[in-house]
Amino acid sequence: PEEDWMAMNVLVLPGDGIGPEITAATLRVLEAADDVYGLGLAVESEDIGLAALAKEGTTLPRRVLERVPAVDGVILGPVSHYDYPPRAEGGINPSAELRVRFELFANVRPCRSRADLSVLRAPMDLVIVRENTEGFYSDRNMYAGSGEFMPDADQAFSLRKITARGCARVAEAAFELAGRRRGRVTAVHKANVLKLSDGLFLREVRKVAERFPGIELDELIVDAAAAALIRRPDTFDVLVTTNMFGDILSDEAAELSGSLGLGGSLNAGHDVAVAQAQHGSAPDIAGRGTANPVSLVLSAAMLLDWRGRRAGDEALTTAASAIESAVDRVLEEPGSRTPDVGGSLGTTAFTDRVVAALRAAA
Ligand code: ATP
Ligand code: MG
Repeated sequence: PEEDWMAMNVLVLPGDGIGPEITAATLRVLEAADDVYGLGLAVESEDIGLAALAKEGTTLPRRVLERVPAVDGVILGPVSHYDYPPRAEGGINPSAELRVRFELFANVRPCRSRADLSVLRAPMDLVIVRENTEGFYSDRNMYAGSGEFMPDADQAFSLRKITARGCARVAEAAFELAGRRRGRVTAVHKANVLKLSDGLFLREVRKVAERFPGIELDELIVDAAAAALIRRPDTFDVLVTTNMFGDILSDEAAELSGSLGLGGSLNAGHDVAVAQAQHGSAPDIAGRGTANPVSLVLSAAMLLDWRGRRAGDEALTTAASAIESAVDRVLEEPGSRTPDVGGSLGTTAFTDRVVAALRAAA
């Protein structure tokens, strides 16, 4: 029925640190987009993280998890899981739990240079597609309870899990994305040293490449990629890589674009998607009203676009690009920037300008 098509039910989980500030800003932008484009937006908000721990004894109540598959998309604020108690005492990292439980295998992280914000000499407009469910992250491996162990007090080992299925599905997401962009995928690896695990990654990426004859595939060692991002950012379109390399390179790329606070990202699976800023909870600036909300605003726009393309709902895809353009237009003006990008506006004043730009464009 018509009504179902025109709905966008969003579950908002504000999280820790600057999370409540940037989710509030993001909701204001979404509500303005709903006014202008008629998205049928319905928002439900639930505490997670330290706020939930204080009230309910867990950082991720089961009730919240149960809502995830019922809505059209989730907006997740950053979480400071390093401050959480052990799992047995209610400490669950909501970010890792959602990624693994709902198989959000692709973490899509666009970074691009705008006006005078970037420190780069050449323009950058790329997307890092990071594997999101395995790799070097101990909490994703669950081997004997953890991916890390110490046989004695002076030796520690970390396991890195790489599977053909994990590599193939993230590669597929990267090639599909490249098909909607400039048609080039760069596979970033360290197969010269991690011969078996990154060898498997490359084998799977090459296999997927055969199914996308229109897309060009390059391969680059991760250290060379870190350097090339600075020297020749304009040569990249889509990068695909394993979990930890993607984590590190996307912080680099976001900073190169001007600030970590500019980096949007979407955790996408087959049926569920979670919008989440690239950065963490920024405890050093939490509660001051100075955080840059762009990262989460752009993540939310990616969620609208993801949902709009799946549901064939043009209002959502149109709103997503309108939000992106509004952010671009506001950032062009040096007087309308937050402190992380050299300005002096607070989160709320900056958000006022994005909302005004969005309404003005309609
Ligand atoms: P976490 O472990 O949760 O990632 P962190 O201490 O690594 O926390 P990040 O959130 O990753 O902190 O941020 C790294 C730096 O970038 C901090 O100095 C932080 O203040 C800054 N930063 C991150 N996000 C933003 C933002 N949205 N606006 C302004 N500054 C930000
Ligand atoms: Mg961090």
